[in-house]
Order: sequence, then C-alpha cells, then structure tokens
Amino acid sequence: MASKIGVYICTGYGIGEALNVEQLSSVATKEYKVDVCKTVSSCEADDLDFIKKDITEQGLERAVIAGPSPRFYATGSFPENVIVEFVNLREQVVWCQPANNEDTQMLAEDYLRMGIVKVQKMQPVEAFPESKDIDKTIMVVGGGIAGITAALEAAATGYNTVLIEKSAQLGGWMAKLKKSIPRTPPYEALEDTGIEEKIKQVQSNPKVKIFTSTEIETIKGGPGLFDVTLKGPGAASFRVGAIVQATGWKPFEPKNLDHLGFRKFANVITNVELEEMAKNGRIARKSDGKDAKRVVFVQCAGSRDKAHLSYCSSICCLNSLKQAAYVREQSSEGKAYIIYDNLRAPGHYEYFYKKMQQDPGVFLTKGDVVRVAENADKSLTVDVEKTLLGENISVDADLVVLAVGMVPCSADGEKIRTVKDAKAFLASGEGGPQVDVMKKRIEDIGQHEGTEILNLDYRQGPDLPTLQYGFPDSHFICFPYETRRTGIYTAGAVRAPMDGLGSVEDATGAAFKAIQCVEMLSRGETVLPRAGDRSYPEFFLQRCTQCKRCTEECPFGTLNEDVKGTPLPNPTRCRRCGICLGACPERIINFKNYSVDMIASMIKAVEVPDEDEEKPRVLVLACENDAYPAFDTVGLKRLQYSPFIRVIPVRCLGSVNVIWINESLAKGFDGVLLLGCKYGDDYQCHFIRGSELMNTRGDNVREKLKQMALENERVQLHQIQVSEYEKIPTIIGEFMETIEQVGMNPFKGM
Ligand code: SF4
Ligand code: SF4
Repeated sequence: MASKIGVYICTGYGIGEALNVEQLSSVATKEYKVDVCKTVSSCEADDLDFIKKDITEQGLERAVIAGPSPRFYATGSFPENVIVEFVNLREQVVWCQPANNEDTQMLAEDYLRMGIVKVQKMQPVEAFPESKDIDKTIMVVGGGIAGITAALEAAATGYNTVLIEKSAQLGGWMAKLKKSIPRTPPYEALEDTGIEEKIKQVQSNPKVKIFTSTEIETIKGGPGLFDVTLKGPGAASFRVGAIVQATGWKPFEPKNLDHLGFRKFANVITNVELEEMAKNGRIARKSDGKDAKRVVFVQCAGSRDKAHLSYCSSICCLNSLKQAAYVREQSSEGKAYIIYDNLRAPGHYEYFYKKMQQDPGVFLTKGDVVRVAENADKSLTVDVEKTLLGENISVDADLVVLAVGMVPCSADGEKIRTVKDAKAFLASGEGGPQVDVMKKRIEDIGQHEGTEILNLDYRQGPDLPTLQYGFPDSHFICFPYETRRTGIYTAGAVRAPMDGLGSVEDATGAAFKAIQCVEMLSRGETVLPRAGDRSYPEFFLQRCTQCKRCTEECPFGTLNEDVKGTPLPNPTRCRRCGICLGACPERIINFKNYSVDMIASMIKAVEVPDEDEEKPRVLVLACENDAYPAFDTVGLKRLQYSPFIRVIPVRCLGSVNVIWINESLAKGFDGVLLLGCKYGDDYQCHFIRGSELMNTRGDNVREKLKQMALENERVQLHQIQVSEYEKIPTIIGEFMETIEQVGMNPFKGM
C-alpha cells in the first residue's frame, strides 16, 4: 500500500506574496495526488506545532514542508517514524528571485516536485544491528600528559578506561622537564610540572587500567567493537569502543644544517639535550664538563623553513626563554643570548617574555645565524647577520643550543599500506610496465614500515592517515580531534605542535569526542559531520564486480575486502558520506534515505521546457556542507541569480554518481554544475577528498559527453567554501553565458 503523504506550504517570510500558492498546491494535489495539502502562515511556534500535530492526526508516513531552508529546523523535532523533507522556498526561491514572476513560480514548483519524489523514494531508517553491542570502554594510547589527562577525564565521566604506554614509565616528555614555563598568574616564574601528581592520580584511579612497556599487536573491528590485542609483559586481549591516540612528539633531527655545527662541534646541542642537563643538575660544556656560562639559543633551527621543517612548533621560543632562566639561575655570571626570527609568546606567555626581557643577563635579538665556528678551546663563535640594530654581530659562547621543533609520533597507515602493496607486487614476479611504477612508488614514499602504532586491521592501512607534515588530523577547521578513522581521536602534540597546557585542554576535548562517539554509536548514529544520521550504506553484493572502487575510495577505511575484492562493510566505521555510492559503477550501494534512484528520480521530476521556450535548465549538485549553506546565505543577503538552475543538495561531491549527470543531460538539462568543498591540506573537504575524487571522475563524465556529442563545457566543477557565498551568482552567471554560447541541449524533448 502506498504511503500516506502530506504537504505543508508555508506562506510566511514573503512566500505567499511572491508565489501563486494555489497553483503551487495543485502540483501536490493534482500531479502527485498527495493525501493532505495545507498552507500554514509560518514554520515557527504555533504553526510548526500545528504541522507536527497534524502529521500525527492525519496518520501521515511522509511529509513535505515547503518553506524555509532545511537548515532552519531543529533536527529530531518531528514525529518519529515519519519521513520529513523540507523544500527550500524561502532562501533559494523567493529571497533570491523576483516576486510574481513566471520563472520564479516554475522554480518553486520544480522544487516541490523534487521534494515529493524524494519522500516517496526514501525508506524508513533503522539503526545498524551492531548498535546494541557497543562497548563504551575508552582506550588511550600514550602515557604522557595528554594521554594521562584523557584517561583521567574519561574515567571522571564514568567510563572504564585503558591506558597503554610503550615505555616503562608514565609521564612522557613532561617527566623529563626540570621546570615548566609559567602557567599561572602572574605568568613570570617557572613552575613545577606537576606530572608526578598526575601520575599518582591516574595510577590510583579504579576506572583506569594501565599497561606500561606495552604496545599494540593488533586492533580488529571498528568503533564500539574494537578488539584489541596487546604485546609486551602485560599482553592481553579486550574490547574497547573508542580510542584516543596521544602518542606525542619527537624532536626534529637538525640534519643538513651544517652552518650551525650540530654533531660537528661538541658544544652545539639541542634544546632537548639542554633540558636533560638542567634536570640532571648542571648546564655544562659537553667538551670538558665545565659550567656553561655563555649560552646562545638559536631559534627556528630548521623550523619554518621549507627545506627542513616547514611549520612553527609554537613552543620552542618559550622553551628557550625558560632555559635562559635556567642559565641565569645557575650562575649570577651566566648570560643567555636568544637569536630569533620572530619570537613567539602567545596569550599569557607574553608576561613571561616581558619578564625575561627585563633581565640584564638575557640578550634577545632578531637576526640570522649564518655561522657557528669552533675555537681552539672548544668554545664557539656565533656570527649573526641582519640583527635588530642592523649590524652584524659575533657572540662567543660555551654552548650553542638549537631550538628544534616538534615532529609528531605518528605512522601514516596509507603510506605503509601502499609500500607493502608495491613490494608484494614486485615479489610476485609479475612483469610489465607496472614494475617501474611500483619501484617509483616505493622510492617516492620512502620507508614507513616498522613505524606502526595502532596496527589496525584495516584494508587501507594499519594507522591513521596523516596530512602533509605527519599530523593525523582530518579536518582541523571544523572537527578538531577527529581523524580519518572513525572512533579514533588524536590529542596533544601528535595532533598539532603544542605545550603541556595545550595538551591538557586537547586531551579533555578528545576524551569528550571519544565518549560522544560510543554514545552515538550505541544509538545507531554516526558522528560528525552527519552527526545523528542513522542511515548506513547497504550493498547489493550479488551484482558486485569486485572492481574495488568503493574500498579504495572510502576516506574512512570503512570497507575491508575479501580475497576476491568484495567489500566487507563495517558500519560503525562509516561516516555516511556516500562516496562509495558515488564510486560504484554498478550502482549497488545505497542508503535508505539517499540512493542512486532517489536523486535520479528527483532529476527526472524537473519539468524541462522545450528548446523553443528558451528557458534553459541547469542542474546544480551542491555539497550540503559548504555549497548548499552558501546558497542559503545568497538568499539571506537577497542576492539574485538565474532562475533556470535547480539545486539538489548532496552529502558530498564525492557521493555524486556519474549516472546522475548522464541522466540529467539525457533528459535535456543544458548543463550540470558541481559545487563542492575546497580540497587540499589547507582546506579539507568535510569527507577528506570527496570533491577531489569527483574531479578525478571527470574523465568518465567527459567520455559520456563525447558519446552524446555534447560539449565538455556543459559540466563544470567549482570549489567553494561556505564564506564565499558572494561568488555563487558570478559562477552561475558565467555558466549560463557558457550555455548560451554552446546552445541548448539537443536532447531536449527526446
Ligand atoms: S558512506 Fe562513506 S564512510 Fe561509509 S562506507 Fe561509504 S565511502 Fe565509506
Ligand atoms: S564499487 Fe560496487 S562493484 Fe565495485 S567493488 Fe564496490 S560494491 Fe563492488
């Protein structure tokens, strides 16, 4: 029996004045013969309550509310078990088009058609079956300050926690510090690190089980169902729900910095080595063990230099100020010289910087250290150019300390996997041109095997994929702590360079995300950015050709595969991006509420006028994360654009199946605009590389256009971020001009 469908058309917000609502209603009642069609004067307060009540009273299973943008409503506020869809008549019709205009009316009617067809095609969503078995234990990997804090925070919230540390002691780098930079007002005096107290707290917490001298042998399954096996003296196996990776950092090895004399002159050391000396009691020349009275700190030793370590580690400047204080404390004759490019002391740390500036024994200058030379007595002479005073200077020193940056202790799982695959291919003895390709691949990626940390049993590799500089982040703008493996969060210096205080805050955030993850999974929901979505991809595997596109393109490593290459889904790993749906040439991957057929049917529902009416039609597939909200802002700002476009939001541009483009062109659409997030490390697509993948699928699109003897210009992809809404009218305007130039689609009316 067909579902009972209701349509509610809102006449508020200028909609009633700009559109012929009666004519619009007839689309619902006459064309689609819906069971209920009513008008309401707004979509807020009493009117919204009326809609919700009416849906229940009328016994509707599906409802379409045509009014403000879907982003206007609070999710989850509609009656359960009713499929509700919103048609955007406000932001994307009457606020961006002239009132009482034939084309505006046609736009509204098409959007209503699409909305009705969409609810007809959607199926009720049920949580994945595993949601009832979710384990809520939180595992923390790494026993430094970030790891200890994450474990304590998770335990304080009532969650059983497991803390894994590969060395014999907890405390990490913080346990190796003599003192901490000032963290409390007036931010002037060095402080004890407080790490011993933290270690005691975590060791005595009954909710935290600690494994030291222990590493991870393997992690199988997915979030909520991770089966962990440990190796080491405390070898054990258990299940956990979410993981916080707090594996910290290692110092940058200042290789190829010959002019600084590292590993060449005994008295040139790193900031890590100086800290060790200070902690052990005395800062001394390495060459003869005599007190070091004149110490030169060279900032950014390799940092912020594309040839070495491109980024700023945010903490080395403060660390040198702290170590200058050690030099001054050790001897009243002690002198510290800090040579910097920019001295960075963010936030309250500025007070500490000012305090140290006032010390007559601390000399600070901007300058380039061009040379460190060793003298006969093993003392050093540091030549500095371009100083603040504009002069070149030479400073004699007992010790030169290189302020080296922080490198994350991470392992790039995708690189490990790629190298292993390439080696396996070469070992197979298969010949052909692929041999050179694989050799080059191994050479380009370099040695990554042996660095494994999590040892995930994931088809796409054993560890978190990383960004350009080795940080395993997934979207630092919108979702800090999230990684490209659902249920695994990063905290502390493995996520971004930071100090101990930053690591404490970070660990608290990551622990919270881990808790949020297990709670959402237990309700069958996914995490960001489609937080709360209970749909998941279903695979009609009888028709699978084992092409492996879905397993290769899934950005979250959701799909393992069997020996033949058939995907093995792990629904708790899935972020519901739909990229697999977009990738599958057989079109056998679908969600209950997002399917190939659903979008194709929405496209078919649009009325495409004949060529002689001179009303072109352009399909816009807009990513729901940035591009679609940007369209709403265009409306909010009352900017205008062509009424000939028809926008369909998609989960991600990567979820666009090429069949939708083909079918729209076959139906007579004159062009297709694909609007997705920017790609690249500096602005990441919400699903990592969805828009980039769509771009690479462009070859298939071009092939189809060729087959249809249509111009390439008819399909364009643009990257747009949510704040760039003002570009939308220009992009559309230029595209409409292109369509005018290439002419109407000859397939119209066929
Ligand atoms: S929806 Fe996205 S995360 Fe889930 S399996 Fe498909 S590609 Fe992977
Ligand atoms: S993309 Fe489709 S056909 Fe290819 S392996 Fe995945 S499910 Fe099978």
